[in-house]
Amino acid sequence: MRPVDKSLFKGNKNRYNPYGDAKDDLILAIGDFCSYCERQGYSSALDVEHINDKHTHPKQKYLWNNFLLACKNCNSIKGTKSVDDSLLPHINNTFSVFSYLEGGLVILNPILKSPLKEKAQKLLDLVGLDRVPGNSKYSFKDKRWEDRKKVWEIANRYLNKYQKCSCDIEIIMDLALAHGFWSIWMTTFQDYRVVQEALIKSFSGTKKYN
Ligand SMILES: [Zn+2]
Repeated sequence: MRPVDKSLFKGNKNRYNPYGDAKDDLILAIGDFCSYCERQGYSSALDVEHINDKHTHPKQKYLWNNFLLACKNCNSIKGTKSVDDSLLPHINNTFSVFSYLEGGLVILNPILKSPLKEKAQKLLDLVGLDRVPGNSKYSFKDKRWEDRKKVWEIANRYLNKYQKCSCDIEIIMDLALAHGFWSIWMTTFQDYRVVQEALIKSFSGTKKYN
């Protein structure tokens, strides 16, 4: 999951009422991607997401600090769940705690140890990133894994081309921005630091960790 830093964007207000008015500034700050599953979304496919849900935390309903962007699937699965004891993409290095695998799968990084492991699991459960066919909570209406699978295939096809020098970084950035799933591109190009650096730079508001 792409770690983000909204503070890199300076044009925001602290308060947006109605909160939906924050969407354009959020897109400028962190790109038009779901903050959790990382799918690319047109503005209408993304919602202003309340990190602390707006029903339990009404005082944070209009606050920029409490906003991210979420697709319909992540938003509805997250619902009013508490984020206490969960890692979060605007606070933690949420890229290093997950492994992105062929077939659109997302699992916990096997090297994680307590208590980080439990906190990462909480984030995985918060938005159901492991809901793929076979998972008891999977719904056929949830196409996030299929989207990941498709983008995994595209990214790997372009890795092959890149290795044969038949495509350049600019093409890879255009494709990554159009398709989303930053973490899949980062994983696919893990042996090419120059591509990873370009991905960090090209996706607005990506927080860099070494
Ligand atoms: Zn999502």
